[in-house]
Amino acid sequence: MRIDTKCIQEGYKPENGQPRILPIYQSTTFKYDSAEHMGKLFDLTAPGHMYTRISNPTVEMVEKKIAALEGGVGAMLTSSGQAASLLAILNITSAGQNFVCASAIYGGTINLFAFTLNRLGIEARFFTAEMPDEEIDKLFDGNTRLVFGETIANPALIVCDIERLANLAHRHAVPLVIDNTFPTPVLCRPFEFGCDIVVHSTTKYMDGHASVVGGCVVDSGKFDWVTAKKYPELTEPDESYHGVVYTESFEEAAYITKARTQLMRDFGSTPQPLAAFILNLGLETLALRMERHCKNALAVAQHLEKHPKISWVNYPGLKSSSQRALAEKYLPDGTCGVVSFGVRGGREAAVKFMDSLRLAQIVVHVADARTCVLHPASTTHRQLTDEQLLNAGIGPDLVRMSVGIENVRDILEDIDQALERV
Ligand code: PLP
Repeated sequence: MRIDTKCIQEGYKPENGQPRILPIYQSTTFKYDSAEHMGKLFDLTAPGHMYTRISNPTVEMVEKKIAALEGGVGAMLTSSGQAASLLAILNITSAGQNFVCASAIYGGTINLFAFTLNRLGIEARFFTAEMPDEEIDKLFDGNTRLVFGETIANPALIVCDIERLANLAHRHAVPLVIDNTFPTPVLCRPFEFGCDIVVHSTTKYMDGHASVVGGCVVDSGKFDWVTAKKYPELTEPDESYHGVVYTESFEEAAYITKARTQLMRDFGSTPQPLAAFILNLGLETLALRMERHCKNALAVAQHLEKHPKISWVNYPGLKSSSQRALAEKYLPDGTCGVVSFGVRGGREAAVKFMDSLRLAQIVVHVADARTCVLHPASTTHRQLTDEQLLNAGIGPDLVRMSVGIENVRDILEDIDQALERV
């Protein structure tokens, strides 16, 4: 099946007489005929659901769909994208250890890594794409457990060189974890370029309607934990789970099985069955929507590039983009629907432009069906001075527009009428 067919057909596959549409199993618990059968579930020797904090049939079907879309051996839905990033790291990292991380990633992930994980004794060591491999190599030591990057960084829109990072990581016998939120597996499948684990904020394009917060961790099943000799949590008995050795009992699905049976059990950042059902509806139209988001965003970026009141445009799909070569390699069918640009006249002009938009709405969100805008300097980053903003790579004139799937002529007319008022 092609990726657009998989969006619809993968996951839930009804048998004779079963509902055609994924049922919502709104039940915390599941009944078994014997204590012995229940015991086997606890021993992980029989498949089945026990308790919705750990797994649920509705949630499982959506996990299967996302695993198929990414080309992985298994996936685990989480209550948010933040929870997905957190669990992906904690699954193979403990206090006293560190990981190497691209600095061009979502700001909320930076907070999680640089502050909260740091307080737990796990250190994130940041690098920029401009650093030569030899410099990045120096960040690794015997306690490094993974490399982290983001396919298209939010909001910098920098494209990650996935193959380069996979080579760096594998040279040091650690896996590469990629946040693939912005392109989704419809436009980029990081496992095809050597990545080992993928995380998502499904809140964005996957749901696509700004309806449910959620996340997902996907395991490629390709990383060799045994040969790496760095992951006793996977290759030695887990005392918290009857001494199970994940790599022996679950082989290529060791990582994702441990994430569920140990971390989801303990942290409980579980998605609700109804949230999984809504996410599944979004996934069914994901390929169609991504095509339209990309088409509309490219038209907006090209239009803005020619507009006299716009000083610069950043969109990885533009021919003039510094990210063009990487985008052609990793995102040949389109990048995403997010465009950032500068309005001539700085902060005041940007605010005036935003306030004058009629169709595009001001919200703290990206990547849903409706066109929306954010002015970081007066909202998410308002505590910073203009100088601090520039150091953070966010000019006071920067507007981030998440281009929706409306008729593009309406979006362009809205932009033009707002710019006329600046
Ligand atoms: N990763 C990326 C690229 C994001 O844009 C976001 C949120 O904006 C997250 C992770 C966090 O996801 P969530 O808001 O679902 O917790």
